[in-house]
Amino acid sequence: MKKGIILKGIAGFYYVKDENKVYECKARGIFRNKKITPLVGDYVLFSIDPITEKGSIEKIFERKVELVRPSVANVEQAVIVISVKNPQPNLQLLDKFLLMGELSKLELIICINKADLDEEGYINRIIDIYKNTNYEIIPSSTKDNKGIDSMRKILKDKITVFAGPSGVGKSSILNAIQSDLELNTGEISKKIKRGKHTTRHSELLELELGGWVVDTPGFTSLNTEAVDLEVLGQLFPEFDNATSQCKFSNCIHIDEPQCGVKTAAKEGYISNSRYNNYIYFAKEIINYRSRRY
Ligand code: GDP
Ligand code: ZN
Repeated sequence: MKKGIILKGIAGFYYVKDENKVYECKARGIFRNKKITPLVGDYVLFSIDPITEKGSIEKIFERKVELVRPSVANVEQAVIVISVKNPQPNLQLLDKFLLMGELSKLELIICINKADLDEEGYINRIIDIYKNTNYEIIPSSTKDNKGIDSMRKILKDKITVFAGPSGVGKSSILNAIQSDLELNTGEISKKIKRGKHTTRHSELLELELGGWVVDTPGFTSLNTEAVDLEVLGQLFPEFDNATSQCKFSNCIHIDEPQCGVKTAAKEGYISNSRYNNYIYFAKEIINYRSRRY
């Protein structure tokens, strides 16, 4: 039996790669009976028919994570890309992406692209705002190859999804890392104008340096309203230490007295930008709840 990873799935066929090559496989009936659908990113055991060389997926290893949009298993990290200009940084949107990444339990990296256009000093300001988040921040420019080597180091041997607003340079960065990657960015799929009923499945693209990149952008629906208010604060890593200073264990860090988070925000350990976006999301959730009940 061979061990491999599912790179692509089309109409019941799965393309599974072992160390050397890709095999076309079908899933055993037991999965259908158990209502388990193999996912791109699944690590599997499969057997090969010696004559046809076609495979049969026998076992799916437990998924560490399961992304919903795109539907990919075992993604380890997300690179959230923003740019200093065209479009300008929208930190509320960035925080929303980070939130979705935290919710999916991914390692998160912030890439600030178009560093060549940084006349306003956005990069330093953003580094300062996120200094206590523990997110790695990579300034990059595909015009002068800045940050591309750092990005290669981060991507090596891992499964990564890229996310971020359109136009920030996600495809350009991946092309700078490896020029022959065939990406399906939202823009490109829109241009092709697929039929309404053709669902687009994501694929894993294997990097020469080792590792895989999901070929479609991650977190295309940023549905923060569904997050539990009690959980929201836990999705801001720099709130961690501060919450232990809150008087109330169920503190949501807005109007409560003796709130460690508010104090940390006042003292600058938590940046205003992050705290204000937290409040914005919290109010979104509260409004959503009051509409539902
Ligand atoms: P995506 O929508 O995030 O995939 O963005 P693209 O990769 O399609 O890039 C959008 C536009 O930004 C294109 O016109 C690129 O040439 C441009 N671009 C990408 N990276 C950089 C960069 O580092 N500096 C500058 N000045 N422009 C860039
Ligand atoms: Zn609090």
